[in-house]
Amino acid sequence: VKAHGKHDVQLFSPDLDAHRRARQGLECALRGALDRNEVSLRYQPLCDLAGKVVGAEALMRWKHLELGEVSPERFIPVAEDLGLIVPFGEWVLREACRQAAEWRLQGLTLRIAVNVSPAQLACADFPDQVWAALARAQLPAEALELEITERLVVQDGAQTAGVLETLGRQGVRIVIDDFGVGHSALAYLLRLPITGLKIDRSFVQQLQGRGNSEQGTERVVQAVTSLAHSLGLSVVAEGIETVSQRQRVHDLGCDYLQGYLLAPPLTPSDFESWWRAHEVQ
Ligand code: C2E
Ligand code: CA
Ligand code: CA
Ligand code: CA
Repeated sequence: VKAHGKHDVQLFSPDLDAHRRARQGLECALRGALDRNEVSLRYQPLCDLAGKVVGAEALMRWKHLELGEVSPERFIPVAEDLGLIVPFGEWVLREACRQAAEWRLQGLTLRIAVNVSPAQLACADFPDQVWAALARAQLPAEALELEITERLVVQDGAQTAGVLETLGRQGVRIVIDDFGVGHSALAYLLRLPITGLKIDRSFVQQLQGRGNSEQGTERVVQAVTSLAHSLGLSVVAEGIETVSQRQRVHDLGCDYLQGYLLAPPLTPSDFESWWRAHEVQ
């Protein structure tokens, strides 16, 4: 093929070709990942202000024989494009509920937070999937927290709201993840049957400075937190990396903390050891 304009040259550049082949390789590998048992979960603790562990967020990991560990930032968008996120998400839900039930038997009672993609909420039978996962694990609905993003809520208002209503009636907790980075109207979000907000780490990480923009961020976090509280919602601050960030979100009234300062996402057995060491203190 002969290249004419600037655009054509770009289209056939070796770079783009390599990129396309890499993407195809990734897609191909991803299709078989669940069947090959390459997908696993890590659990990151959520603590209250007193430092007690109250929950764990399940985070997906994929390790391919040749590609190695692929970051979720990279493979989740591909899984979403391919429609694979629906079976992947169902597996995550089942595995996370199973793990939470196992921990309960060991005396580690916590809520388990699971991330949910837009395509999952678009399935009318999603509440049934959730219900089946809970029943199979014999886990009470209140022990499960679904993390949804603003992006998701805006996409298909009526359908999503219906699914969320059903889940809320079942007693499942629903949290808006990455709160503050989207552009949806607050009033709209707050009409949904949500139980909490998770303030995005980009806000948390602006909290340690002393400049004007930091002060602006502080006021936003403080205002959002007091509004959330007046509506009976809980507030999680995620991405806490430093002692001073922990102090600030504590002062600003956030209820729960999550971040590398407390613990990174851990394998189930590391989570158990961490929890035991933590509870002894
Ligand atoms: P997220 O839901 O916002 O999850 C938090 C991400 O922040 C995780 O990245 C976590 O490892 C990271 N993190 C936790 N504490 C800190 C901290 O103190 N500092 C920094 N810089 N980062 C921190 P991870 O595990 O790479 O996941 C990335 C994203 O992939 C998640 O963002 C979520 O959107 C998506 N994801 C992960 N697992 C699933 C899943 O099972 N289903 C769906 N739909 N999405 C998932
Ligand atoms: Ca999340
Ligand atoms: Ca988040
Ligand atoms: Ca995020």
